[in-house]
Amino acid sequence: MIITLKKNAPEEEVKKIREHFESMNLRVNMIKGDEYNVFGLVGDTARLDERKIMANQWVENVQRVSAPYKLANRMFHPEDSVVDVAGIPVGGKSPVVVIGGPCSVEGEDQAVRIAKEVKEAGGCMLRGGAYKPRTSPYSFQGLGYEGIVDLVRAREKTGLPIVSELMSVDKIDEFEENVDLVQIGARNMQNFDLLKAVGHMHKPILLKRGMSAAIEDWIMSAEYIMANGNPNVILCERGIRTFEKYTRNTMDLAVIPIIKEKTHLPIIIDPSHSTGNWKYVEAVSLAAVAAGADGLIIEVHDHPDEAWSDGAQSLKPEKFAQLIEKARKIAEACGRPLR
Ligand code: PEP
Ligand code: MN
Repeated sequence: MIITLKKNAPEEEVKKIREHFESMNLRVNMIKGDEYNVFGLVGDTARLDERKIMANQWVENVQRVSAPYKLANRMFHPEDSVVDVAGIPVGGKSPVVVIGGPCSVEGEDQAVRIAKEVKEAGGCMLRGGAYKPRTSPYSFQGLGYEGIVDLVRAREKTGLPIVSELMSVDKIDEFEENVDLVQIGARNMQNFDLLKAVGHMHKPILLKRGMSAAIEDWIMSAEYIMANGNPNVILCERGIRTFEKYTRNTMDLAVIPIIKEKTHLPIIIDPSHSTGNWKYVEAVSLAAVAAGADGLIIEVHDHPDEAWSDGAQSLKPEKFAQLIEKARKIAEACGRPLR
């Protein structure tokens, strides 16, 4: 961290500031200039708050050299993390994974039926929402625990691990017991109490990017989970809000190389919520695999026009199967198998 002090900062104030940082076990290198005095802080600066330092009247400017995240930072963990989801490795050089399933669980029959289709198409995990974060309080809110039980039934019938969204801390035990990959949705990306709580879970976490979150905000949310004891975080880009109206959200594909550069965590892409339209799902999926995504999470429904949520962006099983076969070729061309 580089701290520039004001030109007219009195000697004793400069000394006080220096001693303050030294007392925090930081090495302080001072450069005395004609115009300004500059401090270079070396050590664990992640816990420093730039805005608090700026509050000192003798400080002109504060600049971070290293990122504010430590555990997620590739600098301190150069090798890729591989996250185990019920025996399926995600990340690193592991095969690309494709997760499929309905937006909402609508009952045991639907969950089992679609799980079988997902498996037959080549998907390796089943997604399904039982607790749904809906924009309108009048929209279907999910089947709740009954939906989780339906997913468990579908897992029993197909062997596919299950992915479902956790919305509140009071359901932690239910998810710890039943769900293989615990999704934190876009709307809860900065629900810090929830992040801390899943940090204590023993299940891997799928952390979606908030719809208006900068990449650093998102990585800091992963850092929350990791700092509370759970290193098994998979990031998921699901599109961000922009001025564009032709898609539901704007797919930010550049995050794939950026996340890989800045962190060691796996990243998967959700082409369903990022486009909002089944017609664009395949193109975005193939592009994501070509760009190095570790997986895809795609909404699949056998009767999209009757789906209880997100039918417009759900693929029919045949389309999902075709997409997987194309994605397999792209992955292989990029030197990676698809599971
Ligand atoms: C979902 O996966 O169905 C969902 C609600 O996703 P997001 O949090 O990305 O909107
Ligand atoms: Mn959905």
